[in-house]
Amino acid sequence: MIALVHLGDVDPSLLHGLSEQLELAYRRKVEHLSPLPLPNEAYNKKRLQFLSTAILKRLFPLRIPGRERVLGIADVDLYVPGLNFVFGEADPKEGVAVFSLFRLKPESGTSSDEGLLRRRALTEAVHELGHTYGLGHCPNPRCVMFFSNSLGDTDRKGPGFCRRCEGRLFEKAG
Ligand SMILES: [Zn+2]
Ligand SMILES: [Zn+2]
Repeated sequence: MIALVHLGDVDPSLLHGLSEQLELAYRRKVEHLSPLPLPNEAYNKKRLQFLSTAILKRLFPLRIPGRERVLGIADVDLYVPGLNFVFGEADPKEGVAVFSLFRLKPESGTSSDEGLLRRRALTEAVHELGHTYGLGHCPNPRCVMFFSNSLGDTDRKGPGFCRRCEGRLFEKAG
């Protein structure tokens, strides 16, 4: 079972269908936990961003027996030292990951963009969870495990695994 948890204010309508699609991608049940506040200690006042590694730490205790993975969903700008921003971060050892909608939103904000936002959210969710199942970055730019530097990368690859990564995933994850 994979658990999803909202961190801070996240508009649930932006995530419509996400759990169903994750269930299909990972062949596992997905449950929703009660939302958590964004941790104060993760906020960097100089950068006006949240340190994703500090958010991940707050997810560790949620990984109780029976919960294979915990995926946090935020709507704030995330970073790690050395990078301007990150779409998300995973801790494979602890089985937790987080991603943010903040940089996934299309600029024009029309209703047809909602589908695009949902596809991007699914892509980032599948990618970060993939790391928690031991997958590294894939050189195939059409594979969800390709490293995204930009939304162009995210949109090109989409939420699907290449055959090699899919094979590895279910070999490792069962
Ligand atoms: Zn990655
Ligand atoms: Zn791949």
